[in-house]
Amino acid sequence: MSLLLNLLGPREGFEGGLFLPDFKQATSRRPIENVVARDPLRVPLQVSRTMPTKPEVAVGDSVLRGQRIAALVGTASVSVHAPTSGRVVEIDRVWTAREGFLPCAVIEPDGRDTAAPCNRTWSEESMVLQLAEHGVIVPAPLMPAHELIRQATQAGVTDLIVSAMETEPYLTSDLRTLVEQHGRFLDMTGELADALGVHHVYFALPYRHRRVVKRVCAEAAGRHIEISPLSDRYPQCQPNLLVKTILDREVPPGGTPLDVEAVVVPLTTIRMAADAVFSDRPVTHAIVTVAGDAVEHAGTYRVPIGTSVRQLADRVGLLAPVRQAVWGGPLTGIALTRDETVISADTAAILLFSQVHATNPVPCIRCGWCVEDCPVGLDPAALVQLEPASSADEQTKAHLKTCLDCGLCSYVCPATLPLAATIHRARERFCTTSSHSSGGA
Ligand code: SF4
Ligand code: SF4
Repeated sequence: MSLLLNLLGPREGFEGGLFLPDFKQATSRRPIENVVARDPLRVPLQVSRTMPTKPEVAVGDSVLRGQRIAALVGTASVSVHAPTSGRVVEIDRVWTAREGFLPCAVIEPDGRDTAAPCNRTWSEESMVLQLAEHGVIVPAPLMPAHELIRQATQAGVTDLIVSAMETEPYLTSDLRTLVEQHGRFLDMTGELADALGVHHVYFALPYRHRRVVKRVCAEAAGRHIEISPLSDRYPQCQPNLLVKTILDREVPPGGTPLDVEAVVVPLTTIRMAADAVFSDRPVTHAIVTVAGDAVEHAGTYRVPIGTSVRQLADRVGLLAPVRQAVWGGPLTGIALTRDETVISADTAAILLFSQVHATNPVPCIRCGWCVEDCPVGLDPAALVQLEPASSADEQTKAHLKTCLDCGLCSYVCPATLPLAATIHRARERFCTTSSHSSGGA
């Protein structure tokens, strides 16, 4: 990290946003722990409803860890692999947080966790195929990593930004993987940059974690990767805001970084890609922050895909009955209603609380906080007035498409109005094409 950077502090590139309480102390210093599969895993046979696969196992089959259990169909899908060795005892369906019910294979672990033989080699030309075969995804918006690479190549991107910005409270899975494997991630970033043929490569991470920044800077010396320590003012993690802060480019309403010749790749994807490309290891586990006041051993865990939230809660221990469970971060996550929801490849956090965060909406008191904090200069209080309307003019549609779904307006609203969710619904109703079909791109 340069002396100048130390003097000037982190880069800030957008108006609005907010420094949130981080609640990361309980998990940020604990090494990642492995969760061993002992009970049956209900492994989704496809990552999402829009990524079709062809199942390759039947009841009674034995499987090894890393063995393919469903093959990708078409170009916009990824294969699925067994997270441990054991026997398939049922083909059923399972509940996932974002996708609802998906077909699944129920695998009874044999306790040996025997790995399938590693028999592939890779070349730069086969990398994209390798990512698809190994189940590498972009978690938000959920899509195959190779599809993002294809779109980025087609768009002729000049700049690659790898994002390790975790600005939502509680989340530490990026931080912990970065502490433990940063050299490997920089290697993978270099490979990806070569595959994309970009001119500039940036690695964005929170300035607040200065020790990690220093280590990554030292490791990056001699590579053509610019380390960009940024302010962790929420929602700096949003791809469009990263492009604005780092490249000073404005993504048009409803657009993605690809529209301004940039691509943003989350660290989770880099981690999965490094495992696939360097170690021939398919995606079988998720790195999950488990935290919240009901959790006894809060930490970051490497969890087999197909583990239920109930099994995970048993593993980490509970201090109190769980009254509210959240999949993902507290601002953008999904409230869980079923404890049989399983950990999927795109799970970053499970938050378990002993109290329900009660909302009791009252009429707007015109405090203006939502306007002041909106990172893209919208007036959320005005946009929610659209709810009963039957049409919206072009300017309003542009505003709806500009919304980043960051949830900050709802978070700050003293009237506890569900602003972000209402705006999201209005966008789906009035804007024919979703603004976030490739928001991470
Ligand atoms: S959810 Fe949309 S409207 Fe609300 S603060 Fe974020 S960007 Fe602004
Ligand atoms: S933050 Fe809530 S109460 Fe304040 S102006 Fe916005 S909608 Fe109204």
